This record gives sequence, C-alpha cells and structure tokens, in this order.
Amino acid sequence: MKPFPGAVRSGALSHQTEMSTVTPANGLAFDAVIVGARAAGASLALLLARAGWRVALIDRASFPSDTMSTHVIYPNTIARLDAFGVLDRVMAHRPPPLYTAWHHEGRMFVAPHQPIEGRDWAICVRRITLDAILLDQARAAGATVFENTQVDSLVGAGTMADPVRGVMATTPGGPITILGTVVVGADGVSSTVASLVGAKRTRVMPTETMLYFAYWTGAKGRNTQDFFFEAPWVCAHFPADDDHHVITMNGPIAERAGIRNLEEFYLQKIQSIPALRARLEGATKVSRVLGTTRLEGYYRQHTGPGWALIGDAAHFKHPAGAQGIWDAFESSRVLADGLIAGDWMTRYPHWRDRESREFYAFSKHLAEPPGNEGMRRTMDILIQDAGLARRMVDVWARTSRPWVDVIPFIEGMDTVAGASIEAVLAPYEATPLDAAASA
Ligand SMILES: Cc1cc2nc3c(=O)[nH]c(=O)nc-3n(C[C@H](O)[C@H](O)[C@H](O)COP(=O)(O)OP(=O)(O)OC[C@H]3O[C@@H](n4cnc5c(N)ncnc54)[C@H](O)[C@@H]3O)c2cc1C
Repeated sequence: MKPFPGAVRSGALSHQTEMSTVTPANGLAFDAVIVGARAAGASLALLLARAGWRVALIDRASFPSDTMSTHVIYPNTIARLDAFGVLDRVMAHRPPPLYTAWHHEGRMFVAPHQPIEGRDWAICVRRITLDAILLDQARAAGATVFENTQVDSLVGAGTMADPVRGVMATTPGGPITILGTVVVGADGVSSTVASLVGAKRTRVMPTETMLYFAYWTGAKGRNTQDFFFEAPWVCAHFPADDDHHVITMNGPIAERAGIRNLEEFYLQKIQSIPALRARLEGATKVSRVLGTTRLEGYYRQHTGPGWALIGDAAHFKHPAGAQGIWDAFESSRVLADGLIAGDWMTRYPHWRDRESREFYAFSKHLAEPPGNEGMRRTMDILIQDAGLARRMVDVWARTSRPWVDVIPFIEGMDTVAGASIEAVLAPYEATPLDAAASA
C-alpha cells in the first residue's frame, strides 16, 4: 500500500492521548479508518479487507437499523451484490423481482431492463436488511467493526503538513482514538468528516420536489414497481423484502408549507389514486410517514491529505433517480482501486467528474414536478415503442444514456429536460469539483 506522502504508516503509529488509543501497542493498527458503515462504508471495508488491508469500520448506529431511503436497486447494483458475495442472503428475504410500470391518465406501459448477468429486473430491499448483510460480509472479510461509536474529531488537520491520520470517537465505554493511514468519510449527507476537513458543498442543485413515504405490509403485490403520474404529483409502489411495501409520494416543495397534517395528507394522496387504493385494501401501514424536503444535489471535494469522502458524503442527487446505492458502491470500488494502486488522490476525483455529469444533469429534470402535456407525449411514444421504453427505464440501471438513447427520440423532451448536459449544468459548474469549496 502507498500511504499519503507525509502520512505515518500504521505500523509505526505511536499516538498517545489521555483516551483509550487503538494502536499497534494493543494489537490493532489500521490502514484505513472508515466512518459510516452502510452502503458506501461497508462495501469499501469489504473491498479493502479482501485486498489484505487492516480496516476499522465505525458507525454511531447499531445494526440492523434503517436509514432514509426508498431502497430500489437495478440490475447493475444487483450484479454488484453478487460480486460482494451477498446476493443469496439478500434474495433469501424474498424481494420480488420488479419490472418498471408507468401509469398516466388511465394508460400504462411495463418495461423490463436490459439483462445484466441474466437479470432484467430491479428489487427493493430495505436498508435494515441490506446494510446489516453488507456489514456482516465486511466483518467476515476481516474488517474490525465499531458500532455505537460516534466520530467527533480527527487526528491531523488534513493539510499537507498535518495530514489526517485517525479519528477520535465516543463509544458506550468512553472515548477512543483510532489511528489509520487514511480516513474515509462514508458518513452520509451531513458528513462529520467533510465538515471537520472543511469540504463544503459545491455545484448545489436545488430541488422543486420533496419525497415522503411509509412502509406497509399486506399490500397486493405484483412483479412491478409502479409510478402513478398525477401531475404535479408522482406516487409509487415498491414491493420490498419480507412482505413489506414502500409507498411514496413525491410532489412540489412549494406545497409543503400548506400541509398541516402530513400523515393525513399522505393517506389522502395515495387513496386518491384508484389503482393504488386497490393495492392497499386490507394492507396495514406499519411506519409513520418519513421523508424530507432537503433533497438538493451537491458535490464535495473528494480527497485531501489523509482523507477521502465516498457515497452521499461526496455527492448527492435527487432520490427520484434512485442512484444513491449504486453510486455508493461505485465510489467505494474506485476509491479502493485507487488506494491499492496508490493514485487515489487523482484517480478518484477524476472518475467522479467524468462519470457523474450526465446523470447529475438528468437529476435536475427528475427534481421537477411532471406536467400532463409532456407526460402525454412521452406515454404516446413509450406505449408504442417497447425498445425505447426499455431504454428509458435503463437510464436508472445506467445502461442507457438520457441525452444519447432517450431524449432525442421523444418529441419535446429536450425542452423539458434540457437541450444538452452542458446547458443544464452550466449554472452549477462555476465551482470545479476539486477547487477549494466555498458554497
Ligand atoms: C427519501 C430518499 C429516498 C431514496 N431512495 C433511494 C432509492 O430508491 N435507491 C437508491 O439507490 N438510493 C436512494 N436514496 C439514496 C440512498 O439512500 C443514499 O444514497 C445512500 O444511503 C448513501 O449511502 P451512504 O453509505 O453513503 O450513506 P448513509 O446510508 O447515509 O450512511 C451513513 C452512515 O454514517 C453514519 N455516521 C454519520 N456520521 C457519523 C459519525 N460522526 N460517526 C459515526 N458514524 C456516523 C450514520 O450513522 C450512517 O449509518 C434515497 C435517499 C432519500 C433521502
């Protein structure tokens, strides 16, 4: 392994504090300290541990536990679960394979995906299920897991002269210092690591829509994930693992202030859609309504002396794109490759810049409420053209490209989604990805 220039190799750590310190002296020394143990952190821990790295994986949560998400993943991400060696355990929770169905003004289409490793379907696996399986697999690969452990500060300022080389954390048993050659923030949108190294949000993309959902049991399932377009609202039904169902409500943020009782509003909204109401006859809502209006997209500086960010800590976009879990896995794969090769400081941010632009631009469209006229035109075409319908749903599986495979083939879509990636992103690209952040 190549450490960051100037970083102390873990084999030579001798940090002393008043606190308990995890060092070679008490038998534990880490090459990587990862803060956040869900999609991004657990997958990075797994990849590095498999490569023989000594990994500390820390989370303030204990597992299994839930996190805010609507949990849909596509054939690309399912293939990654297979590569991690966890797909059988995930499928043992019986998430139904799902094709994608869109419904609008009494018309619908259903489309499979282009198969990846023979699978042309999506699944919805609640994170209470998925994250615990990933964490177990990271542990089995050799990562040392610290649950119920809150990282409060860093060892090292994150400058060239004083690179980050560990974390200080609070455990149920008291404070602890855990040292490592690189510290990775996989700690989500409100990343502690990002704020401690001063990596602020850049290229912030506002959202016009909010997203709320609840869990149900006993709903009538089909092998589809269904989107009901009721402009300017979109409701959706995702049959999930262990007979749970996620029912979502996505609508204009401007209406949030006028909603006095969110639970009541949510029930009225989903009951107003006859096909959705029929699915829920005899079903039980088993959670309160969850969700948020805070869905603006952003990037943060990805790497610095002794530290890196992955998953939502590094980059976020509107969840109507359902890309967060794939992006968490991809960012951990690319960072792991870079750490092992020793070129992570440049390889990883360059990869992000190259790979994320088109979907980030498309997220702007996904963060806007749909209009009936555009939906009518889109449905007219997609109902008639099964190949194009598949290319449309494959945007979510990252096997088709919005501005190459879809938008040019739907009349008027460029006026709604934007004429080009560059045109959409121009207002947000004043700040380059790895410039000192100022937003
Ligand atoms: C409403 C909504 C719906 C979504 N739907 C989908 C979807 O359908 N499909 C999809 O792919 N993506 C979806 N996403 C996005 C997806 O949930 C995220 O992209 C994904 O959770 C990111 O994973 P992560 O590992 O980077 O971060 P997180 O899952 O946020 O995990 C971060 C972890 O860090 C821990 N942590 C934070 N700070 C500290 C600290 N100081 N010390 C110790 N631990 C700490 C937290 O406890 C947490 O466990 C949705 C997001 C939202 C908001």
